[in-house]
Amino acid sequence: MYFRISARKLATRIASTIIVSGFVGYLFGQTFLVVSLVSIGLLTWHYNHLFKLINWLWQGKSISPPQASGIWGRIYDGLYRRIRKQRQKQKQLNERIRKFRDGAEALPDGALVLSTELTILWGNKKASQLLGVRWPGDVGQRIDNLIRFPEFSKYLDSGNYDSPCLTISPINNELQLELRMMAYGSDQILLLARDISKIQRLEEMRRDFVANVSHELKTPLTVVRGYVEMVQASDAALEPHWQKAFSTIETQVSRMDRLVEQLLVLSRVENNVEDDNRQQVDLSRLILTIVEDVQWLNQEKNHTINDYIAADIKVYGNEHELKSACMNLLSNAIAYTPEQGVIDVSLRNDGNKIRFSVKDNGPGIKPEHVNRLTERFFRVDKSRSRNTGGSGLGLAIVKHVLNHHHAELSIESEWNKGSEFIIYFTTKAVE
Ligand code: ADP
Repeated sequence: MYFRISARKLATRIASTIIVSGFVGYLFGQTFLVVSLVSIGLLTWHYNHLFKLINWLWQGKSISPPQASGIWGRIYDGLYRRIRKQRQKQKQLNERIRKFRDGAEALPDGALVLSTELTILWGNKKASQLLGVRWPGDVGQRIDNLIRFPEFSKYLDSGNYDSPCLTISPINNELQLELRMMAYGSDQILLLARDISKIQRLEEMRRDFVANVSHELKTPLTVVRGYVEMVQASDAALEPHWQKAFSTIETQVSRMDRLVEQLLVLSRVENNVEDDNRQQVDLSRLILTIVEDVQWLNQEKNHTINDYIAADIKVYGNEHELKSACMNLLSNAIAYTPEQGVIDVSLRNDGNKIRFSVKDNGPGIKPEHVNRLTERFFRVDKSRSRNTGGSGLGLAIVKHVLNHHHAELSIESEWNKGSEFIIYFTTKAVE
């Protein structure tokens, strides 16, 4: 039901009231008095309703406005309609919030909604269990007052939330947490906390298993190799088929030995995240040594190895690991480039980064394989890689070494033209 009132209608009403009261007053010879009395009566009626309205607005408990007829009845009806609409909207909004909260409670992760000033606005039950946030006591607290670990403070200071922050729970130091932050709405931040203790334990078990198995395999391999070498070196001439058999055993044992050695290196590098042997490493000198060392690897293929090494470039890290990573790239270039190839090794400052590159004019790598090269045991061409003695672990080792040296690997390759493996050390690696 709608009610409209126009200025014309209002003016007509006032004019007709004055005319009618004036006419009645005229009949009794008291025009002014009657018009005044009617006007006062009307004003009193309006003021009475104004008082009722104010009382209801400020003190009334009922949601329905007072009853009235005429124009005030219309006003009260209009107000009542608005209140009803508002309540309906409120109900819908509450229903949506309830659904959102139910959804957030069903999440297997702790979820906290933070303001841009990092104060806590809301969170689910799981967030209380993982982070010890109390409701509603901690609403308005800054998140770094509750999670006070240095790694989390650094993560917040960095302002870069692309990768997660790994930390332990502030209420239970056996719980390992992965914290992720992301923009939420226009001016809020969502913090998700995931319990990764089980995954970390499994990962630790896997690493220990690989390290132990590799370690245990070393002894039997050394024994077999010793006996094979002993038989091969003995004066008694072996029949040709035995000679072939022992030579095959020797090749395979050597391959297995290299594989086990690389597995051990990989698990050492993986476990070496908090490394005590970090120091300033003269990268220029290290690369020059590597270029000299690989000459014996190059005897068979006779590649031209050019070096463009800028002097005095230093980074902070583990010299042994850095050597193993750079050596891997160079020995791969030698192994996969056909004879008489050209390999360029360069080291230079590139803006605020340090750039080390090994470029060859070998077979190149197809684009679909490039992203998988650093996976363990990934080899583009298994049979060719086997012939070169490859295990598929070399670039996985490189990736792990670079991970904890603030460095990244970039691979540029063109099929049938050659490849370039580039390591970028960021400013953090230099500091
Ligand atoms: P591998 O021990 O087999 O060399 P890597 O992890 O070092 O293992 O390398 C993975 C794969 O990447 C190799 O099997 C090879 O197919 C490819 N690859 C690495 N370096 C080069 C290169 N310079 N040119 C062409 N292919 C390469």
